[in-house]
Amino acid sequence: MKSYVTPTLVKRVSPTQTDITWNDGHAGSYPSWYLRENCPCATCVEEFTGQRKILKGSIPATLGRVDVQPVGNYALNFRWSDGHSTGIYTFEYLRKLCPCPQCLPEGLREPTELGRKPGSFEV
Ligand SMILES: [Zn+2]
Ligand SMILES: [Zn+2]
Repeated sequence: MKSYVTPTLVKRVSPTQTDITWNDGHAGSYPSWYLRENCPCATCVEEFTGQRKILKGSIPATLGRVDVQPVGNYALNFRWSDGHSTGIYTFEYLRKLCPCPQCLPEGLREPTELGRKPGSFEV
C-alpha cells in the first residue's frame, strides 16, 4: 500500500528559502536555486529522454521565489524571480528532492560559478 505524503506547512522563510514540513513529521529546507534547477516542467526536462536541460550550477544562488501556490491537493507551483513559473512540483517529487542531511547526506553545493548566464540551457 502506498502512503501519500503531503505538506502540513510550507513556510516562506525568505525569497531564497522555503521550508516544508510533511505530514509524517519530516521537514526539509529548500533553497530556491535548487528547486529551480530541478524544475520538472516540459521546458526544463526533455520530454522523451527525461534529460534535464538546466545545467548544474547555472541557476544563481540569489534566485528568489516570487510566489508559491498549491495546485489541487497534489502539487505546488512556484514562481521564480527569473520569470519562470511553469513547474508543477508534485508533493511526491518535492519529497524526493528533500535536501535535509538525512535524505541528502552529501549535502547541497551552492552554485558559485558566475560565468554562466542565469538559467542558461544546454544546446
Ligand atoms: Zn521549468
Ligand atoms: Zn529529508
